[in-house]
Amino acid sequence: MRAVDIIIKKRDGMELTKEEINFFIKGLSSGDIPDYQVSSWAMAVLLNGMTEQETTDLTLAMAASGETLDLSAIAPIVVDKHSTGGVGDKTTLVVAPIVAACGLPVGKMSGRGLGFSGGTLDKMESIPGYRVDLSQDEFMAQLKKLNIVLTGQSADLAPADGKLYGLRDVTGTVPSLPLIASSVMSKKIAAGAHAIVLDVKVGNGAFMTNLDDAEQLANMMVAIGKLSGRNVRAILSDMNQPLGEAVGNAIELKEAIDTLNSHGPDDFREHCLVIASHMLELGEKAKSFDEARILAEKTVTNGEALEKFRTLVNAQSGDVSYVDSPEKLPKAKIALEICADTSGYINKVHARTVGETAVDLGAGRAKKTDQIDPSVGILVHKKVGDLVEKGEALFTVLANDKDRVGPAQKRLLSSVKISNNAQEPTPLFYGVIS
Ligand code: URA
Repeated sequence: MRAVDIIIKKRDGMELTKEEINFFIKGLSSGDIPDYQVSSWAMAVLLNGMTEQETTDLTLAMAASGETLDLSAIAPIVVDKHSTGGVGDKTTLVVAPIVAACGLPVGKMSGRGLGFSGGTLDKMESIPGYRVDLSQDEFMAQLKKLNIVLTGQSADLAPADGKLYGLRDVTGTVPSLPLIASSVMSKKIAAGAHAIVLDVKVGNGAFMTNLDDAEQLANMMVAIGKLSGRNVRAILSDMNQPLGEAVGNAIELKEAIDTLNSHGPDDFREHCLVIASHMLELGEKAKSFDEARILAEKTVTNGEALEKFRTLVNAQSGDVSYVDSPEKLPKAKIALEICADTSGYINKVHARTVGETAVDLGAGRAKKTDQIDPSVGILVHKKVGDLVEKGEALFTVLANDKDRVGPAQKRLLSSVKISNNAQEPTPLFYGVIS
């Protein structure tokens, strides 16, 4: 078999066999198939799609590219969650400690930024010393001891996704249903959790821009999970405007800490409580969603969730003083307010434009080797449905390079629509698929 023939077959819209997919994923993992062929194949998949059978075979091949953890020795049910990626999405930083503080183990392998969407690992690395490279033994030991792990994909778990993810980020091959489904589910299967909540984002700031595609992706991932003996629930959530107020790395971490401190923006807090409640219900810590919600709220108000977050940071060698005093987190040199040039109701805050602007400021990567700047980003002061007065701040741009501020200002102003007519706030959720 030759990689080039598999690329050509996919380029010509044909269905790959299980053997071909296994061969390609093996070669990708070992390095026998070079990056340029992998990227070219990913583009062919993006353009021509995959059948359900191919997507399932791809997921299982990627999950089998490394070790698969067996977490049954830790607890009867270990829960995990994963978002398909959005703008301002720092949900994991809040829900993992809430759920773990309720006594349900959360073993989470997170990713880095992908395209215009941020990544949990990049945010956590704003804390000096925080390790995102735990070995498998460390992962298991910490999960058993503390009920919580928040690390990156280790070299031993779904390494094929690790490679492909990095290449997709910089080759325009992210928004593909089979590539997203296999990327998410291969990691989830390898990481061994029994119950998995998927936060499937839909909107202009997500990789699935309409509800039909998001539902299809959710159904596909739930089906793959079932096939692998996992209990999976997908929540369809809005990503037409940024989630919460902060879009960046250190500022998103700070917003997550604020939320664990019972502050934080209302939309983000509500989003987190709903996702955490689904995790608690699916993980059988509560008999109903309502009971789970009460439990989740209680761990925030009594400070247990924040304490769990501190424990996590400490266990992974992070400097906890940054959790206690988030004002110590890296700060950008320039903070410029972008103000409304007219009064009215906010009709739109285009999430994708805000996400792309944050990447341009240095919060994300344009090339695989780029270093992100943890201190830059955007604060979004107004959300859809809000009333704004002329001259009021819509955004604050946080930057270190003055040349990037002007273009950011222009783009951000283009992302907002203000109208005379009152506008309903955007819904947070569109449905649940189990
Ligand atoms: N999250 C992932 O892990 N992979 C994707 O492809 C998209 C979001």
